[in-house]
Amino acid sequence: MKGRRRSPATRVVLEKYYTHLSRHYGPTGWWPGETPFEVAVGAILTQNTAWRNVELAIGNLKRAKLLTPRAILNCPAATLESALRPSGYFRVKALRLRSFCRHLVDQYGGSMARMARRPLAALREELLAVHGIGPETADDILLYACGHPVFVVDAYTRRVMSRHGHTAADIAYEELRSVFEGALPADVAMYKEYHALIVYAGKDFCRSHPNCEGCPLSTTLLPGQPIMPDAHAAKRPLRRPGQR
Ligand code: SF4
Repeated sequence: MKGRRRSPATRVVLEKYYTHLSRHYGPTGWWPGETPFEVAVGAILTQNTAWRNVELAIGNLKRAKLLTPRAILNCPAATLESALRPSGYFRVKALRLRSFCRHLVDQYGGSMARMARRPLAALREELLAVHGIGPETADDILLYACGHPVFVVDAYTRRVMSRHGHTAADIAYEELRSVFEGALPADVAMYKEYHALIVYAGKDFCRSHPNCEGCPLSTTLLPGQPIMPDAHAAKRPLRRPGQR
């Protein structure tokens, strides 16, 4: 983004990680979803559950013809909750989903495309004010559903960065986001792919007990790394699209 100060040293490191991860995994095609609205729904439902459960809930919404903002707002609460049941915390998620749809309909006539045209900073602030939407969910929607250059941070990002000695294990969300956005160019395609790659590496190798052997980032470890423990990060939810 314009005016953002970049750190050349961090950029070199982050680009090296990206290269290693890309070579190992290839294109990920993230985020799964046929429409921007489906992507946003998935971002809301994926909190604290496995992606497989989100797929089941989205499948229910599709079969019941509820995968539009107005259909979600107009259906009885029990119908929506029943459709979302596989995703867990279904009553809470039904409320969150309705809050997002209410905002989308009231402010943008139900159009994700109109919402996506809103300037990034203003839209991020709006989304964060919607009931149940935190920074990670907001940034998932901004990046994957709206195409804004926001780097999505999650528990895996914290783990990888802290175990490689770059940041504290309990670094604040916004601080870690600014590490990536401050070092890398505001490239939407790369941000999408980079977050997906980190999740893949986290899921496959950088678990609570890291399995560095075979990890695409093992050759970038310095003596004394990985740095442990990172108990703060390990306690956070770790399931994302692609994880079964
Ligand atoms: S598993 Fe090891 S090499 Fe891979 S990201 Fe984690 S700490 Fe780094």
